[in-house]
Parts: sequence; C-alpha cells; structure tokens
Amino acid sequence: MSELAHLLPAVQARIDRARQEPGLCAVLVVRLRGMREAQLRHGYEFGDEIMLAARERIVGVVRHVDLVYLATDDSFLIVLPTVRNRTHALLAATRIVGAIDDTPLVHGDRNWHGRAVVGVALCPPHGTDAELLFRRAELAHDEAVRIGEPFACYEPESTPVEILYGELRDDIAANKLDVMFQPLYDLRRGKVVSVESLARWKTSAYGEVPPSDFVPFAERSDLIVPLTRWSLNASLRHAAALHRGGRPLDVAVNLSPRVFAEQGFAEQLLGALDIWGVPADSVIVEITETALLTDLDMSVRVLRRLRDRGIRVAIDDFGTGYASFAYLRHFPATELKIDRTFVDAMVSDARTEQVVRAMIEVAHRLGLEAVAEGVENEETLKRLEAMNCDMVQGYHIGHPMPAEEFVAQRLATVGAHPVGDIFSR
Ligand code: C2E
Ligand code: CA
Ligand code: CA
Repeated sequence: MSELAHLLPAVQARIDRARQEPGLCAVLVVRLRGMREAQLRHGYEFGDEIMLAARERIVGVVRHVDLVYLATDDSFLIVLPTVRNRTHALLAATRIVGAIDDTPLVHGDRNWHGRAVVGVALCPPHGTDAELLFRRAELAHDEAVRIGEPFACYEPESTPVEILYGELRDDIAANKLDVMFQPLYDLRRGKVVSVESLARWKTSAYGEVPPSDFVPFAERSDLIVPLTRWSLNASLRHAAALHRGGRPLDVAVNLSPRVFAEQGFAEQLLGALDIWGVPADSVIVEITETALLTDLDMSVRVLRRLRDRGIRVAIDDFGTGYASFAYLRHFPATELKIDRTFVDAMVSDARTEQVVRAMIEVAHRLGLEAVAEGVENEETLKRLEAMNCDMVQGYHIGHPMPAEEFVAQRLATVGAHPVGDIFSR
C-alpha cells in the first residue's frame, strides 16, 4: 500500500479538479495476472521492465488527459478525468485489456504473455474520495476475477465482498467459525494417525461460504492474520482434548504464507502450543506448493524455525504448482501431499497412475512421507498401498466432520474398539 499512499493525493487533486466539470470521472485498477509469478521466476528486473512496457501500451490506448500510475509490482492505477458514462469507462477498460492481452510483452529475448484484469469505479456515483474509489475499483477487480471476466465495474448491490469483509471480521472475532477434522490413515501402521483441520464459515446472508472463497478473500485483505490465529487456536483446542482424553492424534493446520510476513508469527504459534499443551512434534503445518513460491525466502526462514522446534511441514496440493526439484531439495518439509486431482484420476488413467508412483518415489528419495489426498474408493487405496504410499486422506477414509463431534466420538471409543468405523482403524 505504501506506493499507493504517495499516489493518492495526486489522484485526489485530479478528481477534485474533474468534479468542477460536467460528466463523470473513473478510477481503474489494472492488474497483470501472472506478473507475480513472472517476477519470481525471472527476477524483479524482468518484472519492472515488463511493467514499463505494459505502461507504454496502456498510455498508447488511453487519451492524453488520462493518468496512468504504477501502483504496485503488478498493478496500475488509472484516472480517466472525463467520461460520459459507465459504458464509456468500460470501453476504456476493454482497450486496455486488448493492449495487454493481444500481443506478448517483450523484454530482451523473453516474451511475457500475461492477462490484464480491470476493475472500475466511478466518481461521484461510487464515491468522491480517492482512497474509497481505489478500494471500490479493487473490489470490482476481484469480482471480475471471480466471475472470470477481463473487467467489471463496481456494483454496490452485486459486489458482496465489501459486506463480507465486515461479517468475516466480526465472525472471526466472535469465534463463530467452525473447525472440521478430517482423518488421515497411516497405511503401514494400519490406523488413523492424524487429522487435518478445515475451516467452515456459515453466514446469514450467503449461507455456507466455502474456504476456497473466504480464505483467498481473507488473504487479500488483512483478515488472514486473525483468521489464522483463530484457526490455530481452535484446532489446538480440539487436539488438546484428544491428548487429555488419552487418544491423541497429530493435527495438521493449513497456513497461508502471508502470515509468515507477520512479525513474530513463529513465536505466536509456539506460544499457542504451550498454552494448549500440545507437543510440537504432533503438529503439522500445511503450505500449498503455489503459495510457497510467492515468498520462498521468507517461507523457508519461518518454516526452518518451526522445524527446529519439532513442528512438521507438509507441502500441500503437490503437483499443481511450479515446484522444481531444486527447491524441494532445500525445503524444510517432512511430507508431500499429492494433489487430489492426480489421486482422483489415477484409477482411470494409466499415465496419471505412473505420475503418482513417481511422486511417491520422489517423496521417499527426499526423505519425506508421501500422503495422497482425495482418496474416494477402495481401488485407489489398494493401488496407493501397493505403491508404498505412507498416508491417505479422503472421503473413503472419512469426510471432514465438526471437530467437536470427531473428538467426542473418538474419546467415546476409549477401550472399546468397534469394528468398521474410522476410529478403530
Ligand atoms: P486442502 O488443504 O487441499 O484441503 C482438502 C480439501 O479437500 C478440503 O476441502 C476437503 O474437504 C476436501 N476433500 C477431502 N477429502 C476429499 C475427497 O475424497 N474428495 C474430494 N473431492 N475432496 C476431498 P475444503 O474443506 O473445502 O477446503 C478447501 C481448502 O481451503 C483447503 O484445501 C485449504 O487449502 C483451505 N483451507 C481450509 N481451512 C483453512 C484454514 O483454516 N486456513 C487456511 N489458510 N486455509 C484453509
Ligand atoms: Ca491442506
Ligand atoms: Ca490439498
């Protein structure tokens, strides 16, 4: 946000001036999708050059009076001081999208084929304050991404995210989210050894919002920090109950690497373990392969600290990102979770089965445990077992269920060992 803070006064001044004339004024946020990844793969200099080239393209298709600012590493803030109406502003957005999407941007001998997504907010209908207009243009951008369109205009009615922000913030603070536990079954030891903690959020207005919606939303705002804190504490509280009840299980929590940037995150996590009395070596943090790459150095630093204290680290959704063997070699992981898209397809597709076999082998050669997620039937389980996969997770073993209920059921089976349910496995 810091570059933006410098920009806003200039944008405000331009808006104020524009308002003395008839017509509307538009604020556009243009984000180049895939820019972050390009920077991480090819370096920041490459990223900067591509952004400069993109800026030139944009300047070429807007009018002389329009202002084009570089806002962040991957986005531009554009002010169109005089537009006739909403359509007029959206036409400018289309031209910008075309200017970026139609021909790859070039730096040196490298091409970059990215995609622009534009969010539009209008002044005065959507506000007169530069910061508010920028945020609303951002919300429109997010909505465009969500519906898969190259651009969108802010709609007070149909952009639910703004309302969601307040509701999610309040519900986290009021401890109104739920934790589900899903069991992981150890094929060698022949029993359930751990659970993955999965967050659930029920809202009054939208019903159940899936984590695939609200977690990325929290990641883009500052809510990921309180969400993570909540999720850690809630998961550890239930894990502690299992320990106290004499039927302990390891617990895996999903972490967004954005929280690694927060000062003292590792200490906070270790502190929470102390508070709940859960041993560090019974906790696994899961980081997705893709997310890891967004800030590899920082992630590695924090994860090393956690590893040193005995916490285990799983690479989640393995196979869906761009992880290279080079980084896997140095990464402080203890397990590799093979993405469920591979596991799901392995029975019907021989090549996919070979890919899964290779992933298990890679895991083992690197000294990691191989975990297959999304195991939905016995056939898949049998094949994974034959491939020496260490652990399996999926509907065939058990669906995620409210942690409270999971703990109660597991503790109810102390001593007794009913056949056929997941607790006796
Ligand atoms: P994930 O870490 O890959 O979690 C596994 C997801 O697969 C869960 O979806 C789970 O319900 C689902 N699943 C489990 N077994 C099967 C199966 O056999 N077949 C199929 N088709 N699906 C199965 P869910 O709960 O919707 O979570 C989605 C994602 O949201 C998670 O993916 C995780 O990345 C993220 N997430 C969930 N809770 C949290 C949290 O507290 N913090 C963070 N940062 N992320 C979370
Ligand atoms: Ca996970
Ligand atoms: Ca996963």
